[in-house]
Amino acid sequence: MNGHHLILGELDDFITGESIKDTHDERYRQQLAHLLVNRKGYLKSEVEPRKSLLVRAGKKKAIIKIDFLIKLAGKVCMVIKYGPGSIVTRRRPLLAVSRIIEPYQVPIAVVTNGEDAEIIDGSSGDVISRGLANIPSKSQMIEIASGKPFNPLPAHRAEMESRIVYCYEVDGSCPCDEDICKLMDNEHFMKKALELAEGALSQGEFPVGCVMVHREEILVTGTRRGTLGDDGNELDHAEMVALRRLIEVGNPVDHGEVTAFCTMEPCLMCYAALILAGIGKIVFAYEDVMGGGSGCELSRLNPLYKNSPITVVANVLRIESLQLFKAYFSNPANRYWKQSLLAEYTLMQ
Ligand SMILES: [Zn+2]
Repeated sequence: MNGHHLILGELDDFITGESIKDTHDERYRQQLAHLLVNRKGYLKSEVEPRKSLLVRAGKKKAIIKIDFLIKLAGKVCMVIKYGPGSIVTRRRPLLAVSRIIEPYQVPIAVVTNGEDAEIIDGSSGDVISRGLANIPSKSQMIEIASGKPFNPLPAHRAEMESRIVYCYEVDGSCPCDEDICKLMDNEHFMKKALELAEGALSQGEFPVGCVMVHREEILVTGTRRGTLGDDGNELDHAEMVALRRLIEVGNPVDHGEVTAFCTMEPCLMCYAALILAGIGKIVFAYEDVMGGGSGCELSRLNPLYKNSPITVVANVLRIESLQLFKAYFSNPANRYWKQSLLAEYTLMQ
């Protein structure tokens, strides 16, 4: 772990008064905030700290934090990004940020390591001055902004700029940097659920896996148990196993923000249990033509179900899941739901 991300305690943010994590990096940011307000003449209300920015590179997405935006007369005029060490390598990604953080080109971008700074013209990308003392003051900024067109960037160009930010700031970041949050897509978590299903298959169990995710983080997992031999246990479905673990860990997250990734469409029992637990979303891979419950029309049921805000997404990595069920039903040693409608439907594909 790099020292600059070490958490030393908490401090009160100079701009917002919020209590935030105290790190060596944060101390430099706080000094910058003081500089902007006390020496450069900006009002605290004109300085927005820790602005989140969604960046993409193809299917990859992440949220990064921009240290300060300076907003005058409703327009962002300056973006400031702090980072320890060399500032030269951070010039290009910050320039890209100045082109995508608003629907127009932000006039000035400042990259700083807290001791030195480069002041960059957003449109040309040229370094127009250096040093913390040369960060434009409010009166200078008003003058600079008055001569700028605030033109929008063409969409394809914005896409490329976003990719540049992603490659520098996300792919090139320290793993311990909490200011960067990589957003995983449905396929990423379904792959995890498929790995669990594969594990179940290798033990002769019915190949179903379930992963419960909250804000890009896996909370709990479950795999199908109790399908060995002739007496199938109809309680230990992967979703029920995961739900039970969710209760056991006692994680106080909002279940409405939890997504259940299931390699097979949940049955009626699991679908109802997920609804009762307040789970916000189900993403499944392979449809269960025999026992799937997610097609059940909730509007015809009693209020608890009728008013459930649950959403269901089907067909995510369906083929990958189908392959596991084909393998399961093709093996004569496996007896659970042998010669059923599900087995027939699966093996004819
Ligand atoms: Zn089930």
